[in-house]
Amino acid sequence: MTDIHTDHRSAIVAACRQLERDGLNRGASGNVSVRAGQDMLITPSAVGYDALLPEMIARMPLADPNGAWHGPRKPSSEWRFHRDILRARPDIGAVVHTHAPFSTILAVARRPIPAIHYMIAAFGGPEIRVAGYARYGTAALSENVVAAMDGRNGCLMANHGMVVGGPDLTRALWLAGELEALAHQYYHALAIGGGHVLTDAEIAETAEGFASYGVQSADAESQEEQA
Ligand code: 13P
Ligand code: ZN
Repeated sequence: MTDIHTDHRSAIVAACRQLERDGLNRGASGNVSVRAGQDMLITPSAVGYDALLPEMIARMPLADPNGAWHGPRKPSSEWRFHRDILRARPDIGAVVHTHAPFSTILAVARRPIPAIHYMIAAFGGPEIRVAGYARYGTAALSENVVAAMDGRNGCLMANHGMVVGGPDLTRALWLAGELEALAHQYYHALAIGGGHVLTDAEIAETAEGFASYGVQSADAESQEEQA
């Protein structure tokens, strides 16, 4: 394959190792995919992250109706929702699925995350939804996940875990960590009677702020008055 595929394969392996280091996934749980031109590159099924090598990453043409794949190993059992998210969402270039502990606790309880922290704005709206339950790897699960992610960059998955999508793998990994942080905060807030929920207007205002957050002016000294 081309160099771009080689780079993506190495980046996917590094991402998987990071997810395990950060405690967001362990063993073979979860999976990662990246859009590479007309293809999707995706982790193989049932390979522990410590044993994962770049050449094991499977390639699937995004347009193929039958889920054709190329590689030494079968693609992740969740290739359907990875493929369907990438097909439905041109703004998404990488998808990360995890069984991260606090996200999964809320998913088990089927509790959407309300706007208890302004960082929820990074997910595109005031609530993280819970995708309805269907057996892992099914087209029904994929349909539920795509619906729960409508207008959002992530969702919980009932009795299963969570999924996020970002324009690239770096952003998708960051979102996975942020979603787990929100789930952690909400879990503990529930233990003291729940948190105060920010209004839709407050979240929209935060999203506006995010558009320029961290963006440096070419002439920083003349921008001192800007926060
Ligand atoms: P795979 O090993 O097939 O990617 O499955 C792990 C998983 O999380 C299923 O939902
Ligand atoms: Zn899973």
